[in-house]
Amino acid sequence: NWEKIQGNVTFNHVGFYYKEGEYILKDFNLDVKKGQTVALVGETGSGKSTIVNLACRFYEPTEGEILIDGKEYRSRSQSWLHANIGYVLQAPHLFSGTIKENIRYGKLDATDSEIVEAAKTVNAHDFIMKLEKGYDTEVGEGGGLLSTGEKQLISFARAIISKPALFFLDEATSSIDTETEAKIQQAIDRVLKNRTSFIVAHRLSTIRNADVILVIDKGVIIESGNHAEL
Ligand code: ATP
Ligand code: MG
Repeated sequence: NWEKIQGNVTFNHVGFYYKEGEYILKDFNLDVKKGQTVALVGETGSGKSTIVNLACRFYEPTEGEILIDGKEYRSRSQSWLHANIGYVLQAPHLFSGTIKENIRYGKLDATDSEIVEAAKTVNAHDFIMKLEKGYDTEVGEGGGLLSTGEKQLISFARAIISKPALFFLDEATSSIDTETEAKIQQAIDRVLKNRTSFIVAHRLSTIRNADVILVIDKGVIIESGNHAEL
């Protein structure tokens, strides 16, 4: 049951509502092949985060099915999928504790050098080293002592430390300073290589390299293509 994920993700006629009968997605179909990057764009409330939450199995379809490598994901344990995915949520959540502890949460047996390597990969290392206590800095309740951009960088490091086959990034909507934004951008380009990724983008620059960009409106794909085509 613990075989490694290859990275093919399929939505088959997926319907979903949070409140009985109030559909957010209806007959949603998507076929993502191993290694591809899918970008989701669209207006606020169109369903982008919902699609990511379903793919990550934080919620399950109310209709239809989601397949990972051709197999319905509900036929597996929740922990199997979660051991194989990395995600950065729109409102990144850190728990009180140090930066090091927050990154290690993505791989409980990670060594200090693996933690530093993950932080370097996502461009978080430099800002961490500028803090007086470096990796031992307390982030505060919910990460409250850090900015949103910094929280996204830390949760980004946490997401990739286990080298997951599937990667999900739901870009923060709140304002992030230009310097941090550039760091996140560069990190995304690096992390997307050789893994299946879903990126919810609020800035078009984030997704210029996506294999396919889906424009979502009211839970429906209204356009799709790559950056050059759209
Ligand atoms: P944004 O660009 O603002 O992040 P989004 O495209 O990610 O928007 P979703 O968060 O997927 O949109 O929301 C889609 C719809 O589902 C919205 O109408 C939203 O109000 C509703 N919704 C989202 N989460 C919940 C929830 N936990 N319970 C009830 N309704 C929800
Ligand atoms: Mg969202």
